[in-house]
Amino acid sequence: MMSSLNKNNMEEKEIHYSNQEVTVIWRPALCIHSGVCVRTLPKVYHPADKPWVKVENASTQELIDQIKTCPSGALSYKMDKEKK
Ligand code: SF4
Repeated sequence: MMSSLNKNNMEEKEIHYSNQEVTVIWRPALCIHSGVCVRTLPKVYHPADKPWVKVENASTQELIDQIKTCPSGALSYKMDKEKK
């Protein structure tokens, strides 16, 4: 598996945020800062904070639905486990 953070190449950098059920994957190099995520789920995406993605503030389904609206593909996800 790929490591969650590849320090050698900024283009490949991925940051993972998990709520134990789903992992939100953000690739900063792809983000076009459209703000779609912030407008869609303001309780999760806090651009001024570190970490800026608060996965604990939304349900897994809300996170997945939002990730699909990211226009650049900077956001993706993988399921951590099937069981809830
Ligand atoms: S919706 Fe996607 S491209 Fe837009 S700011 Fe959020 S992560 Fe970046």
